[in-house]
Amino acid sequence: MKEIKLLYLYPDMLELYGDYGNIQVLKYRCEKRNINLIVDKYSIGMDAPDFREYDIVFAGGGADNEQSILAEDLIKYKDNIKKAVESGTFFLLICGAYQLFGKYYKGVEGDIIPGLDIFDYFTEAQPDRRKRCIGNIITEVNVNGETTKVIGFENHGGQTFNITSPFGKVLLGNGNKFEDSEEGFFIKNVIATYLHGPLLSKNPKIADYIIKYCLERKYNEEIVLEELDDTLEEKCREQLLKEFLNK
Ligand code: GLN
Repeated sequence: MKEIKLLYLYPDMLELYGDYGNIQVLKYRCEKRNINLIVDKYSIGMDAPDFREYDIVFAGGGADNEQSILAEDLIKYKDNIKKAVESGTFFLLICGAYQLFGKYYKGVEGDIIPGLDIFDYFTEAQPDRRKRCIGNIITEVNVNGETTKVIGFENHGGQTFNITSPFGKVLLGNGNKFEDSEEGFFIKNVIATYLHGPLLSKNPKIADYIIKYCLERKYNEEIVLEELDDTLEEKCREQLLKEFLNK
């Protein structure tokens, strides 16, 4: 039986709007295909993980307060995380976690939370805390040469700058900044995005992209994933796209 090892970072601090659902979706889609998804958790006070042992690292969103507390802990693993990124471990990072992998996050009060500085982007919140990008969002994403509409929900004050390779083109909503045309950050083994939702339940193609990537890297062979019956997921997507795009 093939297996994928996932590290879930700070589950007690980074979990907004159903971010954990992303892991449940990965587990469901793996189990249906007889793939064992092992989930380990790490949070402050636990033994140091070796990020390179994992096929996927997942971290969700969190408020500024949680971000500033855990950033001090996360930074201890900077070199290890950088090596894991370079060696191809997959990183799925939502909102607050997305921000922390960049150079810094500047909060509403102007306070700077240093990021891991693994990627060149940086994020600054507006001084007016009521100014936030909130609402449903739809982007157009290209995965494995195929274009798909990605549906989610965003709620962030942070405005992310200096993105070299965005995850999606915004069709509805804000994206990396107010009224931006681009959302998130994407390289083959990193999806960093503002989309909560949970992202993967509304976008099974993205879940399968991640599963396929992890298996191909781990087993060093071409993987053709067994098709799953996504009739319900597709119906739900059709309904949401109709509702959100035809307003
Ligand atoms: N604190 C960050 C912001 O508001 C992240 C919020 C989140 O993870 N939803 O920009």
